[in-house]
Amino acid sequence: MLRIVDLTRETTGDLRRAVPRADFDVDAAMAAIIPVCAAVKDRGAEALREYSEKFDHVVPDHLRVPAEVLVEAAADLDDTLRQAFTESIRRRRQVCREAEVETSPAPVEVAAGARVSQRIVPVGRVGLYVPGGFAPLASSVIMNVVPAQEAGVTSIAVASPPQAEFGGLPHPNILALCHLLGVDEVYAVGGAQAIAMFAHGVEGSDEADSCPRVDMVTGPGNIYVVAAKRYLRGTVGIDSEAGPTEIAILADKTADPRHVAADLMSQAEHDTLAAAVLVTDSTELADIVEKELATMVEATLHSERICTSLTSEQSAIVMVRDIDQGLEVVNAYAAEHLEIQTADAAAVAARVHNAGAIFVGPWSPVSLGDYSAGSTHVLPTAGAACHSSGLSVRSFMRAIHVIDYTEDALLDLADSVENFALAENLPGHANAITVRRPR
Ligand code: NAD
Repeated sequence: MLRIVDLTRETTGDLRRAVPRADFDVDAAMAAIIPVCAAVKDRGAEALREYSEKFDHVVPDHLRVPAEVLVEAAADLDDTLRQAFTESIRRRRQVCREAEVETSPAPVEVAAGARVSQRIVPVGRVGLYVPGGFAPLASSVIMNVVPAQEAGVTSIAVASPPQAEFGGLPHPNILALCHLLGVDEVYAVGGAQAIAMFAHGVEGSDEADSCPRVDMVTGPGNIYVVAAKRYLRGTVGIDSEAGPTEIAILADKTADPRHVAADLMSQAEHDTLAAAVLVTDSTELADIVEKELATMVEATLHSERICTSLTSEQSAIVMVRDIDQGLEVVNAYAAEHLEIQTADAAAVAARVHNAGAIFVGPWSPVSLGDYSAGSTHVLPTAGAACHSSGLSVRSFMRAIHVIDYTEDALLDLADSVENFALAENLPGHANAITVRRPR
């Protein structure tokens, strides 16, 4: 089912080229989303309705979900699911508070009377995207909203695709979670058009068909959502490019092949463009994983989607000489999710420097992180983990430098700054210092 990429004889250093990637990427999706973004900018709510009909096969009554619908969705939630939601929120919130919150440090005095400080402030208004194409990812409500709240963001809007099955509303579990978390601004809009709505703002005939523009958009999504985030970056702030899911598993002969197969399959289930990559030095493990996959995939609900994902270019078993070479491969790949299923997994994990999130040992599967581990599931994909981080409280914070010099402190440095400015051929800059000298 999975193709084999044999790197055991690979001696060149360029492993980034050797690791599997999808044929259809963000650049390829740009052509589809540019007209969508332009139409939303020009024609607002009317364009949003047209794209809902085209892509989601339903036209919502209003863009904004009425408040009473959110209340009803939360009231209708069954107890087991409510408990699961509550525990997931509790764990994510605790990690936000204890590991992610940054406070303003004390001012630094770089010379007598020359103070520079850094004020840490939240983004003012955010638009959070919750996917709902292949599956309604209610968990993404928690992963977006909780860190935004813990950062102190005061204006939070959520968008998720309208579902034909629910009369053009987002999935009820998504609505229920918004209400449980105290978010009452929810839009039945999906895909690139939702990102464009947030970035440009939409002014309809009344509040139900309007959405004020946001400062920043976050959240996961398919290739079209990611392309829209890349296209509109600058018009609006974004988090990372959190696109079609990837799992890489670095495993040796000590790994349980059933765990490995189940975990590869769990992420392939997200999208036909999802990537599942096993990196191993054990041909025996690779063979048994293949057999387990054949049985498990056939028996599961979304076998067709999983099969497409596993048999496409982006998924593979990568054979390596040993775990040292395996580490080079996973560091070059920079997977969104990386599982370490080897002997002494913690020591191996400590040598990983490129991954969105690392899942250590046999009892920390990616599915745990998808829902309730306390970590984020909004993570950079397509190699972006070598420069970007998952969504956290920090994503919603900005640092403002505050410069506060006394007259003496400025005059002490006046020669230096004037000379610097003149060396850049900017006498106007120098003059702004000179005019402050005593006359
Ligand atoms: P989605 O909500 O992201 O996308 C659905 C929307 O895509 C539709 O509403 C529609 O507007 C748009 N669309 C569909 N076909 C289109 C086309 N041909 N042209 C333009 N727009 C089109 O839901 P999804 O499709 O289920 O995707 C969810 C994605 O989120 C998956 O790829 C999953 O792997 C990913 N994900 C990523 C992370 C992460 O952190 N990286 C986390 C969770 C999920």
